[in-house]
Amino acid sequence: MRRKLAAGNWKMNGTGAQLAELDRLAAAHPEPGVDVLICPPATLIHRAASALAQSPVSVGGQDCHAAMSGAHTGDVAAQMLAEAGATAAILGHSERRADHGETDAQVRDKTAAAIAAGLVAVVCLGESLDDREAGRTLDVVGAQLDGSVPDDASADRLVIAYEPIWAIGTGKVPTLEQIGEVHDFLRDRLSARFGREPGTAIRLLYGGSVKPGNAAEIFAVNNVDGALVGGASLKAEDFSPIIAALEAA
Ligand code: PEP
Repeated sequence: MRRKLAAGNWKMNGTGAQLAELDRLAAAHPEPGVDVLICPPATLIHRAASALAQSPVSVGGQDCHAAMSGAHTGDVAAQMLAEAGATAAILGHSERRADHGETDAQVRDKTAAAIAAGLVAVVCLGESLDDREAGRTLDVVGAQLDGSVPDDASADRLVIAYEPIWAIGTGKVPTLEQIGEVHDFLRDRLSARFGREPGTAIRLLYGGSVKPGNAAEIFAVNNVDGALVGGASLKAEDFSPIIAALEAA
């Protein structure tokens, strides 16, 4: 049985005042029936982890460097995230792939570093609108999955987030059939690569304009084990009903 996961990606949003949302979230979900993860900006990880020390809600980073240390100005190593209190890291988000030119090979190396540091790697992949309209979605996400995930990854340290680029922050959401098609495809691909049981144990999140109003129907789709949520994770009053919908799924 895969434990469901509601993950929030705050992106480059939030200064100290935003931490009050974590207090609200923790108070609303003292014993969540699903895993809950919040990934704030790196500057807030330590404070967020302290604020959530008595809560089952966990904290993650939004990226890490592939190296343990070195001359990489501005970067943060996976071990540093872990020391700050993170238990997970998002890798290969489409905004990092676009803004920083991250390739599948780089994402794979970052993912390996995150896993080696004891973090859960949430590896993101998804097609552009051009890819979708040209009928290339499965080819694109299949290649990203193959290239971005290291060979020794396993379910305890790996989560895959399918995030169609055209659905992120746009309010546009694929049809439930489209989400189901990709998630079933990813499940088969993981099982073909890692073996039936190990592949079946890896959690698959959907991400892209998940809101309180559409969460329940998305969570009812086969092989959707939760969500990676951007905008609607910033406020507890928005993220909380998404968590509740996942608990009820
Ligand atoms: C994301 O940041 O990964 C995301 C899915 O954003 P949003 O929920 O705002 O579309």
